[in-house]
Amino acid sequence: MDKKVLRNLSYGVYVVTSKDKDRNIGCVANSIMQVTSNPSVIAVSINHDNYTNKIIKETKKFGVSILKETTDPKIIGTFGFKSSNDTDKFDGINFKVISEIPVLEDTCGYMVCKVIDMMETSTHTIFLGEVVEADDYSNENAMTYKYYHEYLKGSSPKNAPTYEEKSIPQSNKEGKTKKWKCSFCGYIYEGDELPDNFVCPICGVGKENFELIED
Ligand code: FE
Repeated sequence: MDKKVLRNLSYGVYVVTSKDKDRNIGCVANSIMQVTSNPSVIAVSINHDNYTNKIIKETKKFGVSILKETTDPKIIGTFGFKSSNDTDKFDGINFKVISEIPVLEDTCGYMVCKVIDMMETSTHTIFLGEVVEADDYSNENAMTYKYYHEYLKGSSPKNAPTYEEKSIPQSNKEGKTKKWKCSFCGYIYEGDELPDNFVCPICGVGKENFELIED
């Protein structure tokens, strides 16, 4: 079986949100699809280990913010590589609250859904959500997972359905430039030295978290 063929499936990059008592929470998801149009129902796959999974089960409500190519990559770093358990992911992020659910501003738009069904797999819960609120912010290109990998050189968080054990972010540059890898998110920086005040554009950690992987 050649599992590489699965890489040909298409995905977007989304932030799935909910609310834990008085606290806004959320995580990055790439596996979301529309399953019916009337009513509008979507399916969302969230890892059991994500705090967001637990809260959606409790509240039966969630939001989906659709990232665009120009969305600040730090949003992916914060929502994809940190835990709502110990981080206020919304600190410093522009968002608004729709039907008690936070949705992000720097995106193509959002959907707020009520859970109408769910299904368990060995690692993920698939939530079926009926869209009850939605807005379309812009006609900019939505970020695809391919764009995230190829242009932002991002990697899959461990909990993503598309995570591969040995996946290394791809580089499209040739030559003998040194490569430095972010130990948090896998972002690759190419250059002889990391600038002094460098922070990872994906997850926001400092240069001390980068290691030289190719000389
Ligand atoms: Fe990083």
